[in-house]
Amino acid sequence: MQNFIFHNPVKIYFGKGQAAHVADEAAAVRGPVLLVYGGGSIKRNGAYDDVMAALRRAGSTVVELPGVTPNPRLDKVVEGVRLVREHGVGLILAVGGGSAIDCAKFIALGAGIGEDEDLWDDYVETGRPAPEGLVPLGVVLTTAATGSEMGDAAVLTNPERNRKLGYVSFPLTPRFSVLDPSYLLTLPDEQTTYGFVDMFCHTCEQYLSLPDDDNLSDEMAEAIQRHILRSWRACRRDPRDYEARSNAMWDSTLALNRVISRGKDEDWVTHGIEHAISAYFDIPHGAGLAIVHPHWMRYVYDASPEATARFARWAVNVWGVDATGKSARVLAQEGIERYVDFLRRVGAPLTLAEAGVPSDPATLDALADHAGEAGGSYRRITRDDARAILASCVE
Ligand code: NAP
Ligand code: FE
Repeated sequence: MQNFIFHNPVKIYFGKGQAAHVADEAAAVRGPVLLVYGGGSIKRNGAYDDVMAALRRAGSTVVELPGVTPNPRLDKVVEGVRLVREHGVGLILAVGGGSAIDCAKFIALGAGIGEDEDLWDDYVETGRPAPEGLVPLGVVLTTAATGSEMGDAAVLTNPERNRKLGYVSFPLTPRFSVLDPSYLLTLPDEQTTYGFVDMFCHTCEQYLSLPDDDNLSDEMAEAIQRHILRSWRACRRDPRDYEARSNAMWDSTLALNRVISRGKDEDWVTHGIEHAISAYFDIPHGAGLAIVHPHWMRYVYDASPEATARFARWAVNVWGVDATGKSARVLAQEGIERYVDFLRRVGAPLTLAEAGVPSDPATLDALADHAGEAGGSYRRITRDDARAILASCVE
């Protein structure tokens, strides 16, 4: 196992009615609460009413920032930073999915850096660590997808530059997150699907990587993946099944709270290429991942004996492929094809065309330039490799 540090201090309030704890959290800070949310789904699933009731009990002043878009944008962050400074905000509270949360994380960062510094150029583009002492952040989660509720990562789009970038820094970690599965009951089917694709992809990007040693992280990743598939089927059978939604919510949180990447490499190439696609075409994150992920797998599974062996293990332990008499290579291929069949059955897009993304050479070049040197564990993915993976996504 490689050396590691694990430090995840997020307090999780899980279950029905847990938004009531927002009152205790808000009472513990000084200054108004900035409520960050999207296009209004929180007013239909009960989250907004629950949060406002808790804030009233705490005696908090509330400043609202609605209108965060999916794939949140820099201009909304700038608006939030202005509100934090103007009102002396003491707690930023994101109510919604990954987009509201990530927007809130960047607002905390933008309000905490020097006035002479530029959030995009000096931090997001360079990955420079965030300063300590940011305005604390709380979350009331309404999707099961990103894991942002228990993590130090956030993703931001700069539409003027056609850039969508991930940024990771410990001070962005929320202080607390409320996970009430009842809020998921109103999720449209396609958002449910995109969320499951995202969380499944997160576990793969931590599991399909070197070294191939005996690491509890990998066994946990397999268990989470099997469980995601179970929750996914249960949510499809009955989208209003509270138990299925509870499992989905906890699956997604555990998929990216860093516990399963301890002691090993991570490989976020699929996310890197997806970010390029949604930077230009603003498609849902989970849709872009469903298109890219299997093609990335086909590109790397035979990069080395370790890679093939790991994909074979994945096929057997996650997809239940019968190993009798089969080579690792055949098992690996069967696992990938099972995954593709599953994605097809749940209605996820599998090609750029299905997501309405053009695939002329100039577009593929621009996307590959954005993906750049995308990193990688089994295989280092260069800009030209990313271009080749994108070309295989065309149809
Ligand atoms: P989202 O973008 O937050 O929300 C997607 C859509 O679902 C919105 O239209 C939203 O409507 C709606 N919605 C949310 N909750 C709902 C509910 N309970 N009922 C009905 N509709 C609901 O989705 P997400 O998948 O959670 O977040 C995606 C973003 O997170 C992307 O930008 C992605 O790149 C990023 N991401 C971040 C990380 C990370 O580590 N930070 C990891 C992966 C992905 P409203 O706008 O009306 O609320
Ligand atoms: Fe993601």
